[in-house]
Amino acid sequence: MSMNSVGRPTTPQAETAAGGFASLTGGRGLLQDEALIFEMGGWQKTGVDLPAASISADELGDLVRSNPIGLPGLSEPETMRHYVRLSQKNHAIDLALYPLGSCTMKHNPRLNEKMARLAGFADIHPLQPQSTVPGALELMDRLARWLKTLTGMPAVALTPKAGANGELCGILAIQAAHRARGDEARKVVLVPTSAHGTNPATAAFVGYSVREIAQTDDGRVDLADLEAKLGPDVAAIMVTNPNTCGLFERDIVEIARLTHAAGAYFYCDGANFNAIVGRVRPGDLGVDAMHINLHKTFSTPHGGGGPGAGPVVLSEALAAYAPTPWLTHGPDGLILQEEAVAEAAGAFGRMSAFHGQMGMYVRAYAYMRSHGSDGLRQVAEDAVLNANYLKARLGDLMSPAFPDGPCMHEALFDDSWLEGTGVTTLDFAKAMIDEGFHPMTMYFPLVVHGAMLIEPTETESKQELDRFVTALRALAEAAKAGDADRFKGAPHLAPLRRLDETLAARKPKLRWRPEGPAAMAAE
Ligand SMILES: *Cc1c(COP(=O)(O)O)cnc(C)c1O
Repeated sequence: MSMNSVGRPTTPQAETAAGGFASLTGGRGLLQDEALIFEMGGWQKTGVDLPAASISADELGDLVRSNPIGLPGLSEPETMRHYVRLSQKNHAIDLALYPLGSCTMKHNPRLNEKMARLAGFADIHPLQPQSTVPGALELMDRLARWLKTLTGMPAVALTPKAGANGELCGILAIQAAHRARGDEARKVVLVPTSAHGTNPATAAFVGYSVREIAQTDDGRVDLADLEAKLGPDVAAIMVTNPNTCGLFERDIVEIARLTHAAGAYFYCDGANFNAIVGRVRPGDLGVDAMHINLHKTFSTPHGGGGPGAGPVVLSEALAAYAPTPWLTHGPDGLILQEEAVAEAAGAFGRMSAFHGQMGMYVRAYAYMRSHGSDGLRQVAEDAVLNANYLKARLGDLMSPAFPDGPCMHEALFDDSWLEGTGVTTLDFAKAMIDEGFHPMTMYFPLVVHGAMLIEPTETESKQELDRFVTALRALAEAAKAGDADRFKGAPHLAPLRRLDETLAARKPKLRWRPEGPAAMAAE
């Protein structure tokens, strides 16, 4: 394997090629190997014909550049090909099913993209006078109305930039509400053991200590344990519903009642709203605050594909503490209320410099309008149906973590069925890449040993689900038949194989330097 100057492998290992055949220069089928853009072309070259600079070096004084800037110089076709080749090295929702549990990787309708590119949304600036952007404000207001209607909640803060940022918004609103009553004694946030890592991280970030709530054998919040842990020191509970085991919290109304009786607030992690949108209104269940990942439930590209948006719906009790800015109806139309005065006097602050992710608002609103309320209900029903189909078709070979009863939008398996095969969850997931499928979510939730969390979403047809089932069943049978080599070396057919993801996360190489491979390698 050869390395470039930043230690990135640039060519596939010879044995990765199908049947042991390796190309002489790192190619694969009709795909060429790809260098970093900085390693291609030279800075002297440019794809555009720029006029000579009218400014003379004298005018720049000591700002005159003494070294080449080092930008890559490529022609337009070279640039196009570079990015298209890179895109072919990765999986994408537009290539095949992307079954990452908890992520809701669904199709992003092209209509949303077309709407988001309308000049009135795409080309406006956050510092433009409000009077010049009434259409954008109107869209935000309509989106807010849909979110409030779908959740049965009276208020929404649109600005948080993702789910985790929404959690922060909700917990800050809860903290502000306790403080407004002069209740400074509440220092604890309760979080179930199955929670997404962002829940305890958010609570800790705001300054609360985190106390875990136990889980029952059937994957739900243990009510007795919750009751025992609630008290005058508890500020809030953070519960995901449906939870990260893909199960509906049957006792959610009782959870809310107990929480309120103890003087605490109920934060619901709404990342799994896709399973219940149009069917259940969290406001009816007693929720005080919930983020909605627009980039999950309401399409809009996410992951490597784009930014997120995590609006937070708030109950009557918390609405007064919502962050600025928010929309109000003035005599001449909508106004974005920027200052924490008058009816916004209780606002705990703000979550973002401006008004949030406009492009995501447009996509989510276009998605809502194109589905309608009946279509959104169908989304939830089909997402749940698809997950149960997978659970039923795979349940005899793989072991469902909670075999009794239906699941919601995710089918969760543990690794007990792999016992004695020498194959781990990680090996199995990597082998899925050779079959053309992105792996499912692995080792999450932590409460299930060797967890494999599969979320097909409503986007997939029965034909596509059957292809997926065929691939997983073939792999499961190979694992049980003792073909461990297929798994240990997987993926065999990907351009790159098992990368050191921990090292990449802990010591990311964020800077490219033109020379000194030895120095870079030593870093
Ligand atoms: C995705 C997710 C989050 C975090 O949302 P981001 O938009 O990625 O910040 C929180 N909780 C659960 C259960 C999730 O699935």
